[in-house]
Amino acid sequence: MSERVWSVDEHLADVLAEARPRAAAEVPLEKAQGRVLAEEVTASGDLPPFDNSSMDGYAVRAADVAGAAADAPVALRVAGEVPAGAGGAGLPKVEPGCCARIMTGAPLPPGADAVVPVEWTDGGLGGGEVAAMPAVAGDGLPVRVFRPAAEGAHVRGAGGDVAAGQSVLAAGAVLGAPRLGLLAAVGRGSVRVVPRPRVAVLSTGSELVAPGAAAELEPGRIWDSNSYALAAAAREAGASVVRVGAVPDEPGALRAAVARVAADADVVVTSGGVSVGAYDVVKAAFEGELSFRKVAMQPGKPQGFGRLGAPADALFFGLPGNPVSAYVSFELFVRPVLRKLAGLPEGEWGRPVVRARLASEVGRSPAGRRQFLRARYEAGTVTPVGGAGSHLVAALAQADALVVVEEAATSLAAGTEVDVVLLG
Ligand code: AMP
Ligand code: MG
Repeated sequence: MSERVWSVDEHLADVLAEARPRAAAEVPLEKAQGRVLAEEVTASGDLPPFDNSSMDGYAVRAADVAGAAADAPVALRVAGEVPAGAGGAGLPKVEPGCCARIMTGAPLPPGADAVVPVEWTDGGLGGGEVAAMPAVAGDGLPVRVFRPAAEGAHVRGAGGDVAAGQSVLAAGAVLGAPRLGLLAAVGRGSVRVVPRPRVAVLSTGSELVAPGAAAELEPGRIWDSNSYALAAAAREAGASVVRVGAVPDEPGALRAAVARVAADADVVVTSGGVSVGAYDVVKAAFEGELSFRKVAMQPGKPQGFGRLGAPADALFFGLPGNPVSAYVSFELFVRPVLRKLAGLPEGEWGRPVVRARLASEVGRSPAGRRQFLRARYEAGTVTPVGGAGSHLVAALAQADALVVVEEAATSLAAGTEVDVVLLG
């Protein structure tokens, strides 16, 4: 480990400099959710593709019903019916004095220029009362219309939403539900996107046991929690994840485990084994290939980082082993890299940071290190939870925010305004 100490910002800048967004690929729409669009999408045709009815009712000539009133209904002959999906030569022609039954989404038949909702008619039953539309029509029986409909009334015009040739989404758009719907609506079954970053997560430590793998712990052993938390954090950041689980503190075993997953990963994340202990396996396994640094932060001082050589060519994060250190380090350094790899704009790499007032004092904070305290945030006020100990997983699970205690501060009074990192 070099004697130099890096600031949080310097380390973040270094890891981001190594991250290049993944090459774009064409994916089916179902696989595009949450991805960043890597092409400009233009509509090949009009949307809606044709003039169609926005109501169940009767397609009419507006001029025919101009004088219709409750006490002076206009009777029109029903020339046929137009269900959704009808089209072409099969459409009834609406001559003067005629109309056609029409359903929502069905094309306006030739001759018609407006739609009268069924509620404005007698439903074609010939009686005077408004009734549900009959199951069969088009028999030429009259329908009585009680209200006029202006030209274009209840008609959704072709191209009224999107005109053919119009750009609907720009490259860089993040594909949420409405945008996926839009892509489908303009007929795209697949699109070019920046693929999900692929992450492999390994825990190191001969003390670790997979939860559920044994009924109880033998002396000196603990359950592996980091691989679960970090895999979940990577998924939350938008990555696809292979969680390898725990690898013992043997450099050869770790190198072999990393080699097995690195070729199919953009990022390999390990926890543990990066400080100065006698069994610091990540350092032992990758010293010389990766850089091992002290970062001026608490928790999370020791950090390993680098790029695994060919054929893997994956970015490697050796995070510290204490669960809080590992998680905070992930949030600060790995998440931004994953978001950058996913093609997201810089403003969306990190978690949002807001200013808030401390509800209680911070008694002691190490000079020269940026401290991240677990806390709960609500409406401009932030309340630290639990202590500063980086093994405190229960307090971490209560937290939804991190209070940032700047390097120079060694304590903070209640009421002080601080930066707060909002966790998802
Ligand atoms: P290390 O950096 O490997 O010395 O680990 C620091 C501390 O974190 C030790 O108390 C480890 O037992 C603990 N630790 C390391 N890895 C994990 C893990 N995957 N799950 C839970 N605790 C861990
Ligand atoms: Mg260890």
